Amino acid sequence: MKYDIIIVGAGPGGIFTAYELTRRQDGKKIAVFEAGHPLHMRRCPIDGDKVKSCVRCASCSIMSGFGGAGAFSDGKYNITNDFGGTLYEHIGKKRAIELMKYVDDINMQYGGQGTKLYSTAGSHFKKLCLQNKLNLLDASVRHLGTDINYVVLENLYAELKDKVDFYFDTPVRKVEVTEDGYRIGCDDGTYECDKCVISVGRSGSKWMQQVCEELEIGTKSNRVDIGVRVELPAVIFSHLTDELYESKIVYRTEKFEDRVRTFCMNPHGIVVNENTNGIVTVNGHSYEGAEKQTENTNFALLVAKHFSEPFKDSNGYGESIARLSNMLGGGVIVQRFGDLVRGRRSNEKRIAEGLVEPTLSATPGDLSLVLPKRILDGIIEMLYALDKIAPGTANDDTLLYGVEVKFYNMEVEIDERLQSRYPGLYIIGDGSGVTHSLSHASASGVHVARDILGMA
Ligand SMILES: Cc1cc2nc3c(=O)[nH]c(=O)nc-3n(C[C@H](O)[C@H](O)[C@H](O)COP(=O)(O)OP(=O)(O)OC[C@H]3O[C@@H](n4cnc5c(N)ncnc54)[C@H](O)[C@@H]3O)c2cc1C
Repeated sequence: MKYDIIIVGAGPGGIFTAYELTRRQDGKKIAVFEAGHPLHMRRCPIDGDKVKSCVRCASCSIMSGFGGAGAFSDGKYNITNDFGGTLYEHIGKKRAIELMKYVDDINMQYGGQGTKLYSTAGSHFKKLCLQNKLNLLDASVRHLGTDINYVVLENLYAELKDKVDFYFDTPVRKVEVTEDGYRIGCDDGTYECDKCVISVGRSGSKWMQQVCEELEIGTKSNRVDIGVRVELPAVIFSHLTDELYESKIVYRTEKFEDRVRTFCMNPHGIVVNENTNGIVTVNGHSYEGAEKQTENTNFALLVAKHFSEPFKDSNGYGESIARLSNMLGGGVIVQRFGDLVRGRRSNEKRIAEGLVEPTLSATPGDLSLVLPKRILDGIIEMLYALDKIAPGTANDDTLLYGVEVKFYNMEVEIDERLQSRYPGLYIIGDGSGVTHSLSHASASGVHVARDILGMA
């Protein structure tokens, strides 16, 4: 089977490549190969009741399938160059923002209309943060919410399904360079194409590394972010979240001058388990619909670690810490902030007596036995700093869930067209290590589609 363009991976990167390519309707034959299921068949068996932990499905429905890792996410599309990836280093800041705005327009056309776009522009919180040694990063954020995000994906699939050949449950095993293009190998045979766009995200990181080794495409190690998820009564952060929804705040610790940052803020949200290759870490969601909202807000506090010489495996370091927490807690550990600073583990009784009702059933424990001192000290310092702009943050009953780990793919050598050293072989999205977010990954797809169409 021969195609003009083959896209590997149906996450935001792959979807927006396909969307932009099909808009031209110039008769190009396009195929998308996806290791996971179609959207409607994506179901994680963990229900917190009968199935409490990962049963290692052949394809993880949280990370894989149409919609990629973001399908059940909070659907926060941050329009900014300040975080979410370094796409701007390849395509320029202006273009990166233009493409993120374009992606936002498409999301609005396909079901997102009516959702709110928040912005830090002109916010008085910028000054308040600076007065308290905190830096509020600039961004606009479209919050689709888990429910609307799903609707947008359904609509995008309906738009694409008759224009593109989708191969679900079809992991690509091999990419070969041929005389006039590329050949990809799957379990049921091989497929050829003139141009190939690889967008395999975080779940495809090991495979991506293998492809880069086989094709001698350069790579370099990336960082890992390690920390906790904080859960507190929504009213404590409501002045910030009502105006900004998500505030990305960075603090430089006095002790080590490390940078600690807030990440993935979920007003009235829930804390959830996340499973990466059988390692259970913590994450958060929130819903746009009022009926699913809670009394709590959650967000992560993360510290970045990057190893290069002689130890290069930043992700391996993060995995080891997460494994340790799983060993001690059988999964995610939860601790009251008051217990942490008093040097004692939390127990069921103290958590039950606290003012914050946990939204995730986790094992009460002691995070100081899991997190390296330097990271934990930074998190504690930041909680006290946040307490100055949102009094109550450092209350004894504030809950800390651990560990939260953000893994990043190694960075692949690609040029300003997001093309590898092989003409027509593009590597985009989180799989390239260049993007780490829905908006950047989607924008990278549009950029490559326009390059292929000669519109860049
Ligand atoms: C729980 C959760 C919540 C998140 N919330 C947010 C958020 O609110 N805002 C935000 O900006 N970001 C969020 N993110 C991150 C965001 O989802 C990713 O940055 C984004 O999905 C990256 O898009 P992508 O297309 O590069 O990769 P992915 O979305 O990971 O998609 C890659 C696809 O490729 C497929 N694949 C992998 N290997 C192969 C192969 N060999 N053959 C065929 N297919 C393959 C995978 O199955 C997957 O479907 C969240 C992530 C998670 C896990």
